[in-house]
Amino acid sequence: MTILVLGGAGYIGSHTVYELIERGENVSIIDNLQTGHLEAIHPDAKFYKGDIRDEEFLDKVLQKEHPDAVIHFAANSLVKESMTNPLKYYDNNLYGTMVLLKSMLKNNINKIVFSSTAAVYGEPQNIPILETDPTEPTNTYGETKLAMEKMFKWTSNASDIKFVSLRYFNACGAHENGKIGEAHNPETHLIPLILQVPNKQKTNIKIFGNDYDTPDGTCVRDYIHVSDLAKAHILAIEYLQKGNNSNIFNLGNGKGFSVKEVIETARKVTEHPIPELICQRREGDPAKLIASSKKAQELLGWKPEFDNLENIIRSAWNWHKKHPYGY
Ligand code: UDP
Repeated sequence: MTILVLGGAGYIGSHTVYELIERGENVSIIDNLQTGHLEAIHPDAKFYKGDIRDEEFLDKVLQKEHPDAVIHFAANSLVKESMTNPLKYYDNNLYGTMVLLKSMLKNNINKIVFSSTAAVYGEPQNIPILETDPTEPTNTYGETKLAMEKMFKWTSNASDIKFVSLRYFNACGAHENGKIGEAHNPETHLIPLILQVPNKQKTNIKIFGNDYDTPDGTCVRDYIHVSDLAKAHILAIEYLQKGNNSNIFNLGNGKGFSVKEVIETARKVTEHPIPELICQRREGDPAKLIASSKKAQELLGWKPEFDNLENIIRSAWNWHKKHPYGY
């Protein structure tokens, strides 16, 4: 298979490219390197530097590669930034996707798997969260991802394009080869921020609120390893290749861990005291997000291999220890 990965130099994109190449697939990448890293690109992938909003550029790559399927990670994903600069998110995430769909239609490419997020649900009404639960995003990022899903839905209704949308919960960890991992600037995610303490980049980890309605008062999330997410994309392509209809899947472990539990596990893994500091709540944080991934298990045959928080944090630590400042 020839697969075109948009955003293949980013965190989840690069792990998916490694997984595809390990399986012997032919991979091309498009990335504008705004948040992606050249060093994260697999040496055996073909790389086109450019922006998916550039229709002429995209048309040329699609014509040349004519991929069997596209995997689309090329989006902005910082919740806080999406609230202060919403139009950046509409432009890149939505306009970018519109240009992509136009180009796919022009070039008769009809299979796409793309990144969605648990942020489409907003404050959940049920735990664990099902794909059929109400979607009421509380931030622009989640709103643009939900709008992307709808754009795919209506376009697939009107054409032969089939899509799979994967709603990730909290992506974390790093490839076991130690060559690629999480490197955001600015970093906003809990696990890499915790690991900055044993890496001597800061003296404590801030806990955003300890007065939530959860067992220890800190927020509960469903942490899912990036390599498990990567594998789900490949299963999703296979699902479409078998002729199945478009679909939406949650991807999580189905287990919740509080911020305090994550810190405690990181202490065990790193053998560092990791001091904590209780701070104000972060705006827009739901108390609890836990996925039901039953649908992905049943229809895609997906089963996370990293189902243990300690192993997940160990894999993240293996990367951050060797790359304290990212790539
Ligand atoms: N969090 C925290 N301190 C930090 C960063 C995050 O207490 O320095 C909390 C955050 O409030 C949330 C959880 O950790 O409850 C996971 O946050 P992250 O930004 O990693 O992912 P999100 O759940 O927002 O997608």
